[in-house]
Amino acid sequence: MKIGISACLTGYNVRYNSSNKLNKELLKLLEGHELIAICPEFRAGFSIPHKPLEIKDGQVITSDNEEVTEKLNKGSLLCLEKIKDCDFLILKSKSPSCGYRKIYDGTFSNTLTDGNGIFTQLCINNGLKIYTENDLEEIKKELIVSSR
Ligand code: SF4
Repeated sequence: MKIGISACLTGYNVRYNSSNKLNKELLKLLEGHELIAICPEFRAGFSIPHKPLEIKDGQVITSDNEEVTEKLNKGSLLCLEKIKDCDFLILKSKSPSCGYRKIYDGTFSNTLTDGNGIFTQLCINNGLKIYTENDLEEIKKELIVSSR
């Protein structure tokens, strides 16, 4: 299968604080499949490191209150081009770009709210199936079904 995956989950140091979220258990599960690693914030041109981002009232803001929605939209569109023919995506939970179902609420106080990241919503709008790194059981089932 061809699977799009948030680059930070594969070990690239692309997070806002130059770290990654390498998930070895997930990568082990995906062995033998074609992985396309994408990072909407990197593709948008944010430096590494950069100020944390959150979404407030539908707009992406930095922790010092700069509005960067359009910039992240552009990075997301570039990433969509790379993964639009993938069988499904595995995206990093809670991120303002890659989060699925829950994201931080725009107050930079570590508070979650319902919602999707900018890139995730674009992918959903384009009919792509989304999982996060917390959906290992569902991903296993997806891979078993595909191997039949
Ligand atoms: S934008 Fe997505 S891939 Fe890039 S660091 Fe954030 S969560 Fe990871």
